[in-house]
Amino acid sequence: MTADERSRELFARAQRVLPGGVSSPVRAFRAVSGTPRFVARASGAFFEDADGNRLLDFVHSWGPLILGHAHPEAIAAVQDAAGRGLTYGAPCLGEVLLAEQVAACYPGVEQVRFTSSGTEACMSAIRLARGVTGRDRLVKFAGCYHGHSDGLLVAAGSGAVTFGQPSSAGVPAGVAQLTTVLPLDDEPALDRLFLQHGREIAAVIVEPVPANNGLLLQRAAFLQRLRDLTQRHGAMLIFDEVISGFRVALGGAAERYGIRPDLVTFGKILGGGMPVGAFAGPRAPFQQLAPLGPVYQAGTLSGNPVAMAAGLRTLEILRRDAVLPRLERLGQRLEDAIGTLLARHDWPLAFVRCASLFWFAFGSRNAPRRDDAIAPGAAKAYGRFHAACLQRGVYLAPSAFEVGFLSAAHTEADVDRAALVFADALAETFGGGQ
Ligand code: PMP
Repeated sequence: MTADERSRELFARAQRVLPGGVSSPVRAFRAVSGTPRFVARASGAFFEDADGNRLLDFVHSWGPLILGHAHPEAIAAVQDAAGRGLTYGAPCLGEVLLAEQVAACYPGVEQVRFTSSGTEACMSAIRLARGVTGRDRLVKFAGCYHGHSDGLLVAAGSGAVTFGQPSSAGVPAGVAQLTTVLPLDDEPALDRLFLQHGREIAAVIVEPVPANNGLLLQRAAFLQRLRDLTQRHGAMLIFDEVISGFRVALGGAAERYGIRPDLVTFGKILGGGMPVGAFAGPRAPFQQLAPLGPVYQAGTLSGNPVAMAAGLRTLEILRRDAVLPRLERLGQRLEDAIGTLLARHDWPLAFVRCASLFWFAFGSRNAPRRDDAIAPGAAKAYGRFHAACLQRGVYLAPSAFEVGFLSAAHTEADVDRAALVFADALAETFGGGQ
């Protein structure tokens, strides 16, 4: 199961032409040991790597594949659409149908603008919020990721309100300064910021189910305070549901928490594995968006017919087959198995889950709610755990701070097998038997 010669050869070759050997950084396995597995093919809950290993996958391309790899109906929809042309650069029925589905699923959505990635969706939603409010300041939370556009690549030290420092080289300080970073789970910090700067704030963007720095589940009261303060001060609340959309509920976190944002961003599941993002909301702000209004946004491949077909079929199947309730049961099954295991051991570990998302919080006994509550040794322990899982044929994200994804292709037997592998791998990680 561990033979990886071919992957190693390919990785060496890749590094000659791709920076770090990859097209997106986390894939390079820098945060864990070993070599990235080159994927040859994937089907259902498994992929096969270049050496012929069959791996039970809990990454699922980081979220889009809620139906599993190469779902036959999704593939058929894509093939059918591709036969009618790959891109038109003109309106097509698919984008109308998919927008209608989004509006039917998500509370308060009347208008949808498609993009080709989650990054573009977040970037454009913020531009729209700035255009609508006539204000410049953006607020984000430490530990939330909203893609790699300049103004969003800003993190902060813990604790008090921090005016943004870029967290990537190449982001101008002047751009970062327009972003204020707050800690999650901290209502007093929110209150203070709005008291002092409420009238400058165009938008607050948040992952309502933060899933990019571990799974930092928030209290409903925190999200509600955010809703109340933004409303009171005329700032727009943007829910980034690129991961949580169509996953934690068909109506995303808005449905789960009963809180409506002013704008919402999507990606991943919405494209069913094809490159799609979208920002959406009630009709009024979209009157300001080109071609109706002065806020410019565009895309050569936006509303791409093949991508629309993949997303449309994915959403149809989610509804038709009641996929989300089944994934909740599957997630509960995994949570119960890990819970039983943790009750028998005194391991410094919390298992965190929301619907079909899960996360092992190494070094914590309770689920952390903010990035600076994650134990400093988490990454090192996760590195050992990750290698032990991979050796046993279970593929987890190659980073301690990324979450696991269950898909409709996982069976109860897959979950039970994974739970056994996790038990062995944890025993190896922490030393001692089970
Ligand atoms: N927002 C969130 C919450 C995300 O998880 C991601 C990607 N993981 C993005 C935005 C950016 O999406 P993309 O990678 O499609 O640009």
